[in-house]
Amino acid sequence: MVKQAYIPETDKKRIIIVGGGFGGLKLARKLAGSPYQVILIDSHNYHQFQPLFYQVATAGLEPTSISFPLRKILQNLPNIHFRMASLLRVDPISKTIETDIGLMNYDYLVLALGVVTNYFGMETVKNKTIPMKSVSEAIYLRNRILMNFEKALNESQRQDIDPLLNFVIVGGGPTGVELAGALAEMKKYVLPKDFPELDFSRMNIYLLEASPNLLSGMSDRAHDNALKYLGKLGVKVKLNAMVTGYEEDSIKIKDMDPIHTSTVIWAAGVSGEVIEGLPESLFTPSKRIQTDRYNRIPAYEDIFVIGDLAYMETEKYPEGHPQVAQVAIQQAKLLATNFKKLAQNKTIQPFEYKDKGSMATVGRKLAVADLPWFKLRGFTAWLLWLFVHLMQLVGIKNRFFVFMNWWWNYVLYDQSLRVLIRPKLFRYQERISE
Ligand SMILES: Cc1cc2nc3c(=O)[nH]c(=O)nc-3n(C[C@H](O)[C@H](O)[C@H](O)COP(=O)(O)OP(=O)(O)OC[C@H]3O[C@@H](n4cnc5c(N)ncnc54)[C@H](O)[C@@H]3O)c2cc1C
Repeated sequence: MVKQAYIPETDKKRIIIVGGGFGGLKLARKLAGSPYQVILIDSHNYHQFQPLFYQVATAGLEPTSISFPLRKILQNLPNIHFRMASLLRVDPISKTIETDIGLMNYDYLVLALGVVTNYFGMETVKNKTIPMKSVSEAIYLRNRILMNFEKALNESQRQDIDPLLNFVIVGGGPTGVELAGALAEMKKYVLPKDFPELDFSRMNIYLLEASPNLLSGMSDRAHDNALKYLGKLGVKVKLNAMVTGYEEDSIKIKDMDPIHTSTVIWAAGVSGEVIEGLPESLFTPSKRIQTDRYNRIPAYEDIFVIGDLAYMETEKYPEGHPQVAQVAIQQAKLLATNFKKLAQNKTIQPFEYKDKGSMATVGRKLAVADLPWFKLRGFTAWLLWLFVHLMQLVGIKNRFFVFMNWWWNYVLYDQSLRVLIRPKLFRYQERISE
């Protein structure tokens, strides 16, 4: 029998929020001081700032600068409790969730679990490519990039060196574009100084995108500028390039020559995951959960879904909202207000997304930004990108360290965090598998 997780009993109604990402964390903070007991659970004990994963992967930022301990954020908020736990199943009838630390009962449940990497059913791709959906995956990628050069130094044959120096990024959205640009800048400014014995004219960075454009959610001007900037940095962009598999160190592309590479970074898409206990009929084909305009699952008045996992159709967004941080944050803010209204028996408000624009950076002084009233590119877009991302980070200390790192990299053309730190067990396993 599964034990009950210990949570202090009170006479307040209990809201359980699953997921301390952009949506869940904002909601918990907004409910501080409300007439509810709030339990935030997350599999990790820290909040992760996903937009800057690529800078961790390319040795530009410390992982701790973009991760923030959830307990620290929730200090001094007496009605908010944090439990490090993973959701295993939901029982909407008994209003209970099962987690790896035990059962918890709720009055209201908010699912803010986000989404996972989508491999579109390709097992070879799932098993051998590197995703970038968590800070630990970004650290793994950083190690892999650095390790490739260490290995290449010890090879004398071209056929052994080339796959180590060919980097393939799949997915031409903001993550793929930003990662390709950052890797190209490492090739230009940093790596030749660290590895003077290697011939860097043989290092290739490929960016593969299945659709005809990069940054498909942005304007034509942004598509064209991103393509131009990446070209300037020497990235080989292949559009209409549909990956079909990855075997024997070769990434296969429909109607194109395969690319021989030992490193494929998968940034091609995300999907939700079916949650045990909830009927599969609630999930869309991409495994998001359909909600009404109040972020509520229509079949269950007391279960809400926010952020990437929520699928809400509105007049302006008939195919659901984009899976971006602003949607999660705005839904969390409104839901907090609605919970307070529910406590007072007042009418709750439907959600309407206010698009504040989108942006992507390609490299130093190179970025694109589509804002509601105008579009920017180049240096001004880059400055705006730096400012917006800095201000969105949780914690003054993190903002300070990220700012110092950026300043250092900008002035000295040098990412200073090129250290290969791996757990001992991992090194041992790698040696025995070689
Ligand atoms: C590499 C990358 C770059 C991005 N760049 C941008 C960008 O520049 N701008 C932008 O607007 N958006 C960007 N996004 C998208 C943005 O990060 C998401 O839209 C946003 O994080 C969604 O927030 P959320 O609260 O729905 O989920 P998340 O922020 O993903 O949070 C989900 C939380 O749930 C937890 N969790 C998951 N499963 C369980 C479980 N079973 N039990 C307990 N806890 C669980 C996770 O640990 C996590 O903390 C990026 C995403 C990625 C991956």
